[in-house]
Amino acid sequence: MLEAVLRQIGQHERFVLTSHARPDGDAIGSALACCQVLREMGKQADVVLHDGVPRIYRSLPFADQVLQSSRVTGSYEAAIILECDSIHRTRLEGLEDRVLISIDHHISGRPFAHVNWIDPHAVATAEMVFRLARHAGAKFSPEIATCLYTALMTDTGSFMFQGTNDNTFALARELVLAGADPAHCARGIYFAHSVAKIRLLGEALRNLNVEGNVGYAWVTRKQMERCGAIEEDCEGLVNYVLSIGGVEVAAFFRELPDGRYRVSLRSKGKLDVARVAESFGGGGHECASGCSLDGPLAEAVRAVILQLGRGPSVQ
Ligand code: 5GP
Repeated sequence: MLEAVLRQIGQHERFVLTSHARPDGDAIGSALACCQVLREMGKQADVVLHDGVPRIYRSLPFADQVLQSSRVTGSYEAAIILECDSIHRTRLEGLEDRVLISIDHHISGRPFAHVNWIDPHAVATAEMVFRLARHAGAKFSPEIATCLYTALMTDTGSFMFQGTNDNTFALARELVLAGADPAHCARGIYFAHSVAKIRLLGEALRNLNVEGNVGYAWVTRKQMERCGAIEEDCEGLVNYVLSIGGVEVAAFFRELPDGRYRVSLRSKGKLDVARVAESFGGGGHECASGCSLDGPLAEAVRAVILQLGRGPSVQ
């Protein structure tokens, strides 16, 4: 399928790149790197994201060139949608009439585009962008390596999540050889939190519950407001719940402006949380997934915890 993607890139000149709303490190890093690879290939390319670039990723190379919009208006012939399983999740209008190319590593990835390169064996979408760049023979700058290394580092939970293997480290090595600085990348992400985020962590931990091997916590809009926190400050809080010994699976609930609840699910490997998220209309990976549910909070928590208790084991 990589060949089909390269064929489409060869046949078109103007590309728009995007990913899912509320983009994470793999979404941002892969989109920035892929855009630059296309430019190195002599193409015109722009990244458009519904939510723009979250604060912690703003120091990445080319991040300042990202266009934040809810509509794609340029004369782009093709759209490359990375790390995302539908047009809907991009929350962008104006993609429908373009040639759509999907590059995704999610096991729940759906073939919604004209060309779908979905590889659940890739540890991150960044790995697929790396392969694309290599096959295309594009010049590989330290800036591109930095974007891909950051994507790889964040999507593997700093090389700790299930699925991290010798290929992951081989790729990390390639990226470091190409100019990515691991300490610099880590500093930009893990040592750059806002005070509001750390205060929000305190609020979340006040709402911590552990039932058997399931841990969960939540934050309400009121708590977020009290801390001066914004949506992106919730990213990663679920990992503190998972860090508890004996907890096999963690859920983090946050109240959305419309009163629904956004749920982040994480597993240490014994339970497949992708299938649990899918049962609520979401998706993701065996060890990291997400979904949204209607309130009230107690109902949402009960429904998810029940599913986690019954969660099917990873095969
Ligand atoms: P997070 O908890 O960080 O929002 O999401 C964890 C993982 O699950 C990410 O890889 C993300 O792309 C995926 N994910 C989260 N929410 C959804 C969703 O609603 N649908 C799908 N298909 N994947 C999701």
